[in-house]
Amino acid sequence: MSSEHGENAGPEHTEPAEAAPEGTGAEAAKEADQDPNRDAAATSVEADGDTSVDADRDAAGDEAAHGADDDAADESADVWDVVVVGAGPAGASAAYAAAVAGRRVLLLEKSELPRYKTCGGGIIGPSRDSLPPGFELPLQDRVHAVTFSLDGRFARTRRSRRMLFGLINRPEFDAQLVEHAQKAGAELRTGATVVRVEQHGPAVPDRRTVAVVLGGGETVLARAVVGADGSASRIGAHVGVRLGQVDLGLEAEIPVPPSVAEDWKGRVLIDWGPMPGSYGWVFPKGDTLTVGVISARGEGAATKRYMEDFVARLGLSGFEPTISSGHLTRCRTDDSPLSRGRVLVCGDAAGLLEPWTREGISYALRSGRLAGEWAVRVAEANDAVDARRQALNYAFAIKAGLGVEMAVGRRMLAVFERRPGLLHAAITGLRPAWNAFADITRGSATLGGMVRSNGLARRALEALDRRMDTSSGVGPAGRGVTQRDRTASDPTDGEAAEEL
Ligand SMILES: Cc1cc2nc3c(=O)[nH]c(=O)nc-3n(C[C@H](O)[C@H](O)[C@H](O)COP(=O)(O)OP(=O)(O)OC[C@H]3O[C@@H](n4cnc5c(N)ncnc54)[C@H](O)[C@@H]3O)c2cc1C
Repeated sequence: MSSEHGENAGPEHTEPAEAAPEGTGAEAAKEADQDPNRDAAATSVEADGDTSVDADRDAAGDEAAHGADDDAADESADVWDVVVVGAGPAGASAAYAAAVAGRRVLLLEKSELPRYKTCGGGIIGPSRDSLPPGFELPLQDRVHAVTFSLDGRFARTRRSRRMLFGLINRPEFDAQLVEHAQKAGAELRTGATVVRVEQHGPAVPDRRTVAVVLGGGETVLARAVVGADGSASRIGAHVGVRLGQVDLGLEAEIPVPPSVAEDWKGRVLIDWGPMPGSYGWVFPKGDTLTVGVISARGEGAATKRYMEDFVARLGLSGFEPTISSGHLTRCRTDDSPLSRGRVLVCGDAAGLLEPWTREGISYALRSGRLAGEWAVRVAEANDAVDARRQALNYAFAIKAGLGVEMAVGRRMLAVFERRPGLLHAAITGLRPAWNAFADITRGSATLGGMVRSNGLARRALEALDRRMDTSSGVGPAGRGVTQRDRTASDPTDGEAAEEL
């Protein structure tokens, strides 16, 4: 194997720092490990939140029990067909899908747009394929080469004539998605933080309506609600999403001089990290490198050390990041609910994320679109039984597609956690393994499809399953998940990490 150390070394002078955001990745690491307020916050956010598996059924039963005598309240101009909470890729896609179907859609976002989001901004084929018609990707770079290393050693670069995947800046990409939803007819309100949703009680005029309560006490009404409020989701807590895997990602946006930028142009680096399941990346975006690491939550200090070592090893310590941040990623258990009554969840809010790579943009775009389409049906439903049928159809669509992908991803993560060297040797030394990586990133194949159609891949994974017991619905070792995570999404610590 050829070594490529040195090709990443940067100049020795320090670039001037721009205004740094409050907090750092280091603080995020500490915060995520300590987690002091988790129970209290979860309780206060959703006092009536039923987190049982049967959440859909309970709310539907409530609705039926109230009967048809509430029907008089319908068709009010003050009731939106669909309210979407959160204007990331999942929410923008949901709003677009519901607006294109001709419904009155309100998209609520707590931040002003464009807003920063801790993310590598890697756009793989399935993300590209899920964009609305006419959407032009604001690509910062096109990836044609990947350097793989194993905790800094055995570096080898694989190249491809065809583009493997694209790189975008999230503020720009997300804002553009929201513009598409607005052009389709959705109304956007920024600076609107949703604190809870209510499906019964005094704020709810009838049983076909959901009350969405905002920070200032204002309430908006909807026939259906889509929760797309990210990994610290309040709507996810209401629905009762349970987690099987929680990881902490640390990331820095590092401006570099042209000579360094040129060295990275069209090439990313993926480093299989020192802790089980961890890895690091360098994603070039013109004059800035997005550098990050991710590992199971609970190892904040080690994750921070990995980030520092990684940056130093790349010769980038001399450059001052404009932004250093941390954020949790969370994967659902596969028996977790995706709806409760007239409320659906998608994207990170639903814990929909590729467990091995923690790729989530394509999951957000795909589940967001489905949530928007099925929310239209939920909004049209005249009774609880029909609303529940439509919500379950949404859940089936997710489980048959992304759910299957996630199951394979969990198995891959289990192998990677135990045998990172095996994976590195395969992807850098065996052409079929590299071709599989290239096909998946380009979107011409999926991990799930490959395991289904390729007998050798299936048998190898089955053999590893038997040895490692990876086929359960939770993460390989329940990684990064506390007992409290398992019973309710926690709205505070991801949020805190995001703000750091
Ligand atoms: C370090 C790191 C690197 C990553 N790199 C990649 C990558 O390269 N490629 C990839 O595909 N995925 C990546 N991911 C995952 C990806 O960022 C997420 O999966 C994706 O952002 C999910 O989109 P979403 O729309 O569900 O949530 P988000 O993008 O988080 O959007 C949620 C929105 O909801 C808003 N919101 C939150 N709470 C409220 C509220 N109460 N009221 C109103 N609005 C609210 C937020 O402000 C936000 O705008 C990475 C994640 C991390 C942590």
